Amino acid sequence: MSKDMDLKKHIRSIPDFPKPGILFYDISTLLAHPKAWHTTIERLADLIRPHKPDVLAGIESRGFLLAAPLALALGTGFVMLRKKGKLPGMTVRHTYALEYGTDTIEIQQDAVHKGARVVLVDDLLATGGTMAAAVELLESVGAVVPTAACIIELTFLEGRKKLKPPVETLLQYD
Ligand code: 5GP
Repeated sequence: MSKDMDLKKHIRSIPDFPKPGILFYDISTLLAHPKAWHTTIERLADLIRPHKPDVLAGIESRGFLLAAPLALALGTGFVMLRKKGKLPGMTVRHTYALEYGTDTIEIQQDAVHKGARVVLVDDLLATGGTMAAAVELLESVGAVVPTAACIIELTFLEGRKKLKPPVETLLQYD
């Protein structure tokens, strides 16, 4: 497996999605290519490993696609951060501001132990609002978040400035 393959070749950009003026980076083509996907997981695992996670937390829904195989590769647990109303049992939620309106994410109350090192995983960092909310949610249940990780960073949006932990990203677009 060649870890230095050009992963950008496997990411498609789609103009005007989900609304006019937005250029959407589509990872479907990366998922559909076994070697490129395997390389993505291996390279992200290499970036995350030094942060010594106990658990990986995936952000619904593309974050799940990454966090589950990464957790297997790193020998950690995997927990889901989901949209409101999807998780059974006792949950803790965090509501955060969007450009228009608000959104809410949830975690099961007993999903992580106090003091657990939880690395946050998503596919893409844009403005940083989603990851910042996820960090607050994890900290509110007693987790320590040593880093967040994603495949793509839209550097011109400076999302990492919104986050307390550092962010590990594989591919940067400006
Ligand atoms: P942020 O909260 O950082 O502005 O947006 C990041 C969230 O929106 C992530 O959960 C990500 O899945 C989604 N997102 C925003 N833009 C894109 C995009 O161009 N491609 C993909 N795959 N996801 C995006």
